[in-house]
Amino acid sequence: MASNDAVDASELEQWKKRLLDLRAEILAEGDLAIEPVRKDDARVGNDEDEQPLVEMSQVIASKRNRARTDVLTKVNQALARLEKQPELFGLCQECEEPIGKRLAALPYVEFCVECQQASDGVHKPGRRRHLLDFK
Ligand SMILES: [Zn+2]
Repeated sequence: MASNDAVDASELEQWKKRLLDLRAEILAEGDLAIEPVRKDDARVGNDEDEQPLVEMSQVIASKRNRARTDVLTKVNQALARLEKQPELFGLCQECEEPIGKRLAALPYVEFCVECQQASDGVHKPGRRRHLLDFK
């Protein structure tokens, strides 16, 4: 198991706070994980012109909610990891290299850029050591 000398306890506290803040922010927006109610069931066949617009806004709302739900799930998972294995926080779940700058932007990410790209199906040009300092 890799040791994570780069992250000390006070840094972990900061990550935890950021994650909690982020979670609070997402929850504060409300309406999470609620699929848009399909009101068109009630009105059969009317408003042909209006329909595409309504559906489009529902799709947008739905996508937005799903994205937020995904982030919330990842935030919760990150908090759980931070709780259970603080020594591994900030390390890629796949290759155990420090995630580095990516973590600063998205404190809940699980993978380094390379492993993320690999799992997204982007061609991975061989293993490269990460030389980014974790600050
Ligand atoms: Zn990785």
